[in-house]
Order: sequence, then structure tokens, then C-alpha cells
Amino acid sequence: TSFGFKEVREEEKSQMVGNVFTSVASSYDLMNDVMSGGLHRLWKERLVSKLNPFPGMKHLDVAGGTGDVAFRILESINSVKNRALLDVHDDNLLEETKIYVCDINPNMLNVGKKRAQERGLGDNSSLIWVEGDAEALKFEDDSMDGYTIAFGIRNVTHIEKALAEACRVLKRGGRFLCLELSHVEVPVFKELYDYYSFSVIPAIGELVAGDRESYQYLVESIRRFPSQEKFASMIAEAGFQKVEYENLVGGVVAIHSGVKF
Ligand code: SAM
Repeated sequence: TSFGFKEVREEEKSQMVGNVFTSVASSYDLMNDVMSGGLHRLWKERLVSKLNPFPGMKHLDVAGGTGDVAFRILESINSVKNRALLDVHDDNLLEETKIYVCDINPNMLNVGKKRAQERGLGDNSSLIWVEGDAEALKFEDDSMDGYTIAFGIRNVTHIEKALAEACRVLKRGGRFLCLELSHVEVPVFKELYDYYSFSVIPAIGELVAGDRESYQYLVESIRRFPSQEKFASMIAEAGFQKVEYENLVGGVVAIHSGVKF
């Protein structure tokens, strides 16, 4: 039956995603820099500045991998500027901040924990590493002030389930933000970008990570991901309001956001 066929495909997809990230975990950060020319750093900065994190917040970063987004959130909260706004007794508030990094792949989490140690955040009680699936979160209803997912939702088997889970765990007024590789519609730039993704990225993958196949998969998964407008409507269907998106670099990436009311 077509149902049976779909089941197999989905199982294959989950397994494929698992294999991809297990094989790239150690070279993952380097590859991000090489493939995006360092731009992913700016995109993540933009994501965190849109989130506008605050001391004492409970935040969930899903598909958090090596902790890149979580570290930035924590740094933003602990920044001198932010601290200057606090009273002395608000030091407790800093300690109450909880940033959960949730990822399905323990290898990615282990790389993240190692990086936390290197940054002197090894014993930081605000950072909590959780192995888990975006489609079935192990967190309570209405428990989070914020939810981020960066370059992660594209890999999730049932995007609708992940969005519904995001909505479930957020408190009322809580914010959903998603950074994802998206679609370029600008003529000429689109052709250049297609060439870059279909020819250059797999070649870099082979050269730097010794793994052409995983990066071929990456490019195909970007292709299959819904358009900015379509994804925005999926977020609204999951129950979010004030859904909007911002294109960066002509749509190479987009930041979608919504609020749970
Ligand atoms: N957010 C990090 C960043 O921006 O650097 C990591 C992004 S990485 C491209 C995608 C991550 O999604 C991987 O660490 C992978 O293990 C994770 N992932 C894939 N499917 C997932 C799922 N269903 N639930 C949670 N994490 C998932």
C-alpha cells in the first residue's frame, strides 16, 4: 500500500539523518564555517538578537547539536550590558536561567559538552543537555519562555509534529524562532546559488570532511524544504500567532517566528 511505502521512506529518512550527523559530528563546526564562509555565525547572532533573551528565562534550543545557539543565548544573558540592568539580588535570577539543549544525536551533544568545557561553561548550571526528539519532547506543557531551532527542522521527519510540540511546551506569550536554509528566488543569484549548492558543497564535503554523500543529502534536503510562505502557514496551523519571517542573504536562510497566545 502507499501507506506501507511511506512508512519505509520515513524510517529510512530518520536513519539517514542519524547516520549523517554521526559521521559529521566532529567536523561539523569546521564545515559550517567553510560552507557558509563564516556567515552562519552572523545568522545565529541575528536569531539570538531577535529572541532577546532575558535573565531567569527557561529556553529550549531544539536540534541544538554542538551548542552554538545555546552558548550565544547564555552569553547574551550574561553580557555586561545585561548585567548592568540587574539589581544585586538579581544574581539569583541569572542562576535560575535554564537553557536546555535538546538533540536526537548523542555524538553532537558530546561535542557540545566538550565545547562548553573549553569555554569555561562546563559546570554552568544554566546549560542542560538533553537527548531527545523534536517530535516528542520530554518537557512539560507551558514550561518554556522561548524555543529555537537552527538548521534542524529540515531534518525532522514530521515537521508538523515538531511544530505542535514547540507550541505545546511554550508558555503563553512564549516565542518560537526557527533559523533554516530556505529558498532563493532572486534571478541570477538563484542560478549562482544552485550551482554552489549542487556542485560546490558536495565537493567541499568530500575535501574537508571526506564525505560527499552526507553533503549531497544536505543539499537535497534544502531543496525539499517548504517555501518561506508555506512554512509560515504551517507554523500558523500549529497554533502560533503573529507568524512572520525575515529572509537573510536573499533567502539563503530565513528566520521564521511566532508567538503562542
Ligand atoms: N543547531 C545546531 C547549529 O545550528 O549549529 C545544529 C544544527 S545540525 C545541522 C542539525 C541537528 O539536528 C543535528 O545535531 C541532528 O542530530 C539534529 N536532529 C535531527 N533530527 C532531530 C530530531 N528529530 N530531534 C532533535 N534533533 C534532531
